[in-house]
Amino acid sequence: MNGPSRLAPLAALLALNPVWAQVAAVTGEPPTLTVILVVDQLTADRTREWALKDSSSGFRRLWQEGVVYENAAYDHATSATAPGHATIATGVHPSKHGVISNFWYEREVGRPFPSVWDREYGVSPSRLAAPTLADILHSRYQGQAKIFSVSIKDRGAVFTAGRQGKAFWYSTRSGGFVTNGFYYPEGAEPEWLSAYNETAYRQVPAAWDLLMPGETYAREDDRRHERPPQGWTRVFPHEYAPAGTRQYYDQLRYAPDGDRITMGLAQIIIENESLGRDDVPDLLSVSLSATDRIGHAFGPDSRESEDNLHRLDRLLSEFLDYLDSRVGPGRFLLTLSSDHGMRPIPEYAPGADPEATRVFSRRLTEALNRRLSSGLNATGAQDLRVVGALNRQLSSELDVDEDLVTGIVMPWAYFNLAAIERLELDLDSVRRMAGEWLEARPEIARTVPVSQLDDCGGDRTCELIRNVWFDGRSGEMYVVESQNSFVSADPPVYAASHGSPYLPDLRVPVLFYGADLKAAIVDRPVTPRHIAPTLARALGLPPMENWEKPLTEVTGRPGEPQ
Ligand SMILES: [Zn+2]
Repeated sequence: MNGPSRLAPLAALLALNPVWAQVAAVTGEPPTLTVILVVDQLTADRTREWALKDSSSGFRRLWQEGVVYENAAYDHATSATAPGHATIATGVHPSKHGVISNFWYEREVGRPFPSVWDREYGVSPSRLAAPTLADILHSRYQGQAKIFSVSIKDRGAVFTAGRQGKAFWYSTRSGGFVTNGFYYPEGAEPEWLSAYNETAYRQVPAAWDLLMPGETYAREDDRRHERPPQGWTRVFPHEYAPAGTRQYYDQLRYAPDGDRITMGLAQIIIENESLGRDDVPDLLSVSLSATDRIGHAFGPDSRESEDNLHRLDRLLSEFLDYLDSRVGPGRFLLTLSSDHGMRPIPEYAPGADPEATRVFSRRLTEALNRRLSSGLNATGAQDLRVVGALNRQLSSELDVDEDLVTGIVMPWAYFNLAAIERLELDLDSVRRMAGEWLEARPEIARTVPVSQLDDCGGDRTCELIRNVWFDGRSGEMYVVESQNSFVSADPPVYAASHGSPYLPDLRVPVLFYGADLKAAIVDRPVTPRHIAPTLARALGLPPMENWEKPLTEVTGRPGEPQ
């Protein structure tokens, strides 16, 4: 099977950069270890809520001793894991780094592919179109900087590792953390990896149960619209399937124990690869996925999410203690952020229309278009029914017998440009008809044709969409779901989701901790695009094209406006 072609190598990306030539001198002592900590789906509100709890230790310490940007939000429309991580990794919009979604349709091949898909290795960052902080660090220190990244999700690990770092993610098939030939030639994987996989599960208890006394929880446990993973009910305790089974490995991803084994591997890496031990700065990225899976399955307002945050709080506290003892206080610089926010389970959202919570649900079930069903894989399948219905609508209105929409791989609608040209139809008219049809559905708020992105005229949603448009990857029309709806598989797999251009999906924490930073709470609006330029400045690395200015509360240049 052929996949999309790979992009230009890193050297070409760096060479194209006009500011790359002016390599800045390292000024001051850069931190010996920089840690990028991404908590998948952690919202700004929850971070604050937990940091202010008397019972908090980890969040509280970060909040009280770090530089906290209270008003941080993404300024791109598709609030999803891959675009978020790639934005943190590169410091630029998806319209520049090219990772526009978790999946997008490849016209070349005729089906959707995951953002981390690589023809040769299966998974790699080869579809990144911009240099990462990791790449720049690698180049600046001629390969001497150690760069590692770990996550349960492949897309949580590969972007922050860049093209030269080593990424590790979790496989439910093998039941452990894996890497591949892009990072290590076959057989050359580090010994500590298999050793860790053999021992990691010994610390996992038989069930996920409440950390605190039951009466201290503010959120209800048993709610009708929760969708627990296979083998679990909606209520605590959540007993794991027998160790070693596929279901066991799957359930671990939906529990705080998944974060615990991820953090365990991060520490194994720090120790076995001697991160932060010499004068060359090292970079470790950790993306914790449990908050995301739990939020999807039980909703962000569930007792499961509440317990998860209590446990995450402790995990963060233990990790900070660990970094203090292993690397030394003041010698590491840590940033905490997230790849996207979250919205409630739509059925429980205030003011939600109970008939319009999920797009393309069973009510819409119609015969699948035969050609589409053979052309799209499971990732696009959730949208096939509406594509089939949309095609029938367009065909009857325009009196043609070809499908004019190839697929909707949310949030993009991809039109059959060849057929539209052959039938001598006007793309704008077809797009307008399709847009009107979609917008008549209560689950769809609006559609935005790509032709509109050139002139947004102050329309904020349009601007957010422009920041995720990438030539050759985006479709011809962006589909915005209604605030209390989300595009769901049929039947739904998840209870709740994110991905929209609405503020709850965009607001995330951005904070920095360590390296003798002076504590501050800053209300000036920033974005996760500020993270890479800020860390680069702290590490004495040159700025890249399209970067924001570093955050001066962190980089501490006297005389510069704060
Ligand atoms: Zn995510």
